[in-house]
Amino acid sequence: MAYDADCIFCKIIRNEIPNTVVYEDDVVKAFLDITQVTPGHTLVVPKTHVADIFGYDADLAAAVFSRIPKIAQAIKASDPAIIGMNIVNNNGKVAYQSVLHSHFHLIPRYQPTEGFA
Ligand code: 5GP
Ligand code: ZN
Repeated sequence: MAYDADCIFCKIIRNEIPNTVVYEDDVVKAFLDITQVTPGHTLVVPKTHVADIFGYDADLAAAVFSRIPKIAQAIKASDPAIIGMNIVNNNGKVAYQSVLHSHFHLIPRYQPTEGFA
């Protein structure tokens, strides 16, 4: 596993920074985003340090991508009010990536309140 001592997500993977774990295995860790776009907003990160999607090989892609549906399903199953989900992956500062350890945002969506366009 590649480790970057200056990377906050590498530190979260090692529990050197407090985090709320949603799911974890040998390939990925999923934890709550510190800024919750909606309740349950989760980040899924590969345990090996890779900056962005451009650094994935086919094996890492298969390992990480194959885990996302079951994590999404578990989040949805945790709250019947969750009726949808955005899965977002930013790559590069120009694409609004602020933490340069690849991650996927799982953002649960709920019934819009009245007046939502
Ligand atoms: P990006 O903009 O790179 O796609 O998303 C980075 C995400 O990481 C942001 O949503 C931000 O709230 C989250 N984040 C930044 N620092 C921390 C942290 O220390 N802990 C957690 N749990 N999330 C963080
Ligand atoms: Zn890292």
